[in-house]
Amino acid sequence: MRHNLIDPYTPERGYYECRGCTHREASEDRLTACSICGADVRNLAVPRE
Ligand SMILES: [Zn+2]
Repeated sequence: MRHNLIDPYTPERGYYECRGCTHREASEDRLTACSICGADVRNLAVPRE
């Protein structure tokens, strides 16, 4: 169990993917619309790759 020890101050950094243009963006703020095309974005889990 080491999944919360890597990034102690950003336990849930927002990582978003646009439904329109598939642009991906990491943001520390909550993102509700794509900064490229303005479409809806969905929140992705923090990727581990
Ligand atoms: Zn977009």
